[in-house]
Amino acid sequence: MEQVFSVGQISELLNLLKEPKKIVITTHHKPDGDALGSSLGLRRVLQRAGHHVDVVVPSEFPQFLCWMSGSEATIDFIREPKKARELLASADLLFCLDFNEPSRVEQMKNDLLKVTAPIILIDHHMHPMPGFGQLVFSDITHASTAELIVHILMVAGLDHLLDKESAECFYTGIMTDTGSFRFNSVSANTHRMTARLMEEGVRNDWIHEAIYDTNSYWRMRFLGYTLHEKMEWIEDQHTVIITASQQDMDRFQHQPGDLEGIVNYGLSITGVKVSVLFAERDGLIKISFRSKGTFSVRDIAEKYFEGGGHRNAAGGRSRLSLAQTVQRFKDILPEYDDELKN
Ligand code: 5GP
Ligand code: MN
Repeated sequence: MEQVFSVGQISELLNLLKEPKKIVITTHHKPDGDALGSSLGLRRVLQRAGHHVDVVVPSEFPQFLCWMSGSEATIDFIREPKKARELLASADLLFCLDFNEPSRVEQMKNDLLKVTAPIILIDHHMHPMPGFGQLVFSDITHASTAELIVHILMVAGLDHLLDKESAECFYTGIMTDTGSFRFNSVSANTHRMTARLMEEGVRNDWIHEAIYDTNSYWRMRFLGYTLHEKMEWIEDQHTVIITASQQDMDRFQHQPGDLEGIVNYGLSITGVKVSVLFAERDGLIKISFRSKGTFSVRDIAEKYFEGGGHRNAAGGRSRLSLAQTVQRFKDILPEYDDELKN
């Protein structure tokens, strides 16, 4: 099995976990399946090893993840800032999962930077911020943070602590971050780690249904409206643009998570190379980029939209209006014509 972290790192981890500790686990703003699945899976594993563990999330997560073991016990920084701050300040050890720079926790950033406990960073994104984390497991060859954690547990000889509940959390992280095992990021290791989780009795069909077949009536109508009215196909540049205004979201009784996956519909059109979703949120425009093949949307996100991510899936933001942001993106696109038009 390919191993991308060192024996030294593993022994350092085991050393930090030797005695029962007060541990806090946190993840990025707007936690997705991997962020929450990794956090709740690790919570349960560490609890079974005798630690006291709290999961603090910088903001709420979508309803379709609420079935995961321990989700009801998470502390949302936006709703319970005092409690979240106290936990961060009094932790013996902090795990930061599925992000690699403090700004990804948004409003919680200042409190995160004040943490005095050692930070263990486990993440699979590019360009970790130098100096962030005392013990860093940062590896882009893993398709999800959940896969990376399961790999670490196995190498560290801690996988006996897995049970059905934690395995289902990790499985969710792997499944959602790989688009149900179809992205280019999937490796033999992904399947090996998944097989280890399946041994714990993971209900893979049930999980897929819980995540993908629990649309509300309003979300389906919003999806239909958006694809029909708000999707633009820039044929010669093989690019799709989808927009979601606050007004549209209000009209369709928007719930957290309703925008999840919409950008992928653009990518499913024959010949498309880039799909972008621009959504109004909290007075900003949140941008989701997806691409196929070698075209790197991370570059655009980093260079022009205060963001980053992976080659084929990235995110960013804009402080212009929705219409101005779309126009700015269109003005930037010709710079990439060589890659897009061929
Ligand atoms: P999404 O479009 O689902 O919000 O994000 C897609 C990918 O880009 C995720 O892997 C996410 O971690 C990453 N991403 C989204 N927004 C940002 C950002 O502002 N900065 C960085 N570095 N990565 C981001
Ligand atoms: Mn992830």
